[in-house]
Amino acid sequence: MKADKLVKKAHELAGPFRVTSGKDFRLKDYRPDDLLTFDKEDKDRAKVALAQGVQALSDLQDKLYAQDQWAVLLIFQAMDAAGKDGAIKHVMSGINPQGCEVHSFKAPTSEELDHDYLWRCSKRVPERGRIGIFNRSYYEETLVVRVHPEILGKQKIPRELLTKNIWSQRFQDIRSFESYLARNGVLVRKFFLNISKTEQKKRFLARIDTPEKNWKFSTADSHQRQYWNDYQKAYEETIRHTATEDAPWYVVPADNKWFTRVVVAAAVIEALDSLHLAYPKVGKVQRKELAAAKRELLAEK
Ligand code: ATP
Ligand code: MG
Repeated sequence: MKADKLVKKAHELAGPFRVTSGKDFRLKDYRPDDLLTFDKEDKDRAKVALAQGVQALSDLQDKLYAQDQWAVLLIFQAMDAAGKDGAIKHVMSGINPQGCEVHSFKAPTSEELDHDYLWRCSKRVPERGRIGIFNRSYYEETLVVRVHPEILGKQKIPRELLTKNIWSQRFQDIRSFESYLARNGVLVRKFFLNISKTEQKKRFLARIDTPEKNWKFSTADSHQRQYWNDYQKAYEETIRHTATEDAPWYVVPADNKWFTRVVVAAAVIEALDSLHLAYPKVGKVQRKELAAAKRELLAEK
């Protein structure tokens, strides 16, 4: 497929889920089982679309790397079993590992708790020419910590700084951090994989019933289901306060894994395309050097 046609298709697939202004954002306007023009039987069509997307991504990444100016940061957040790992694995499958790095952020270690909360993430912001992926991120600070505010007590933050403004302050910190990144040439895109409570239950049951999936199941994860509504509210608030033109959120339907992957790939394509990447052009002097090197090589005995 021609590049411009593919980019148009990427816009069609990702556009409906892109949030660039949080002002009127409501999570209930986004259906976890949305399939746009696809239907349940369209898995094969989606596979073709994904393969085309992965190829396009690989070409774009090659230019990103060669140009060595922009960096791309992709942030993934979701409830458990929404398919973060699978989406990352599939979408990045065609990408040169040298130009890509994935970081997972778990509950902070004691060393991490000795620092401000952006510290561990800012150390992992990708360098120019690279794609960096955060599997969870500083957004946990307005999600899990908001749902379980007792975590705040363990964060070693001076008491007098823990006021009722803490969440709006964190939203402000994050917006500032992301616009700082944007102004430094780091393109930020954020993904919320939006799974329904029913589909999560189905996937947890599959993890229990399938021996090869047992390792993925954790009682702590299923325990979080009782806070489902609190999490949804926390996600809604977070997106409302941190969706910007510079660093949009994508609220990706996650009840059908194959569709999630297509949408994520499309969103990454539209992001990379917005950079108008091109291979560095060589100047007159370099062209002369190339010609001289060629003469030398051809003259070798
Ligand atoms: P995943 O569930 O993303 O596939 P995992 O199961 O391999 O990852 P877990 O051991 O579940 O990893 O670690 C992720 C856990 O760490 C989540 O429950 C998450 O909410 C928690 N976490 C991440 N960041 C923070 C934070 N800043 N404060 C408290 N908890 C956090
Ligand atoms: Mg987990």
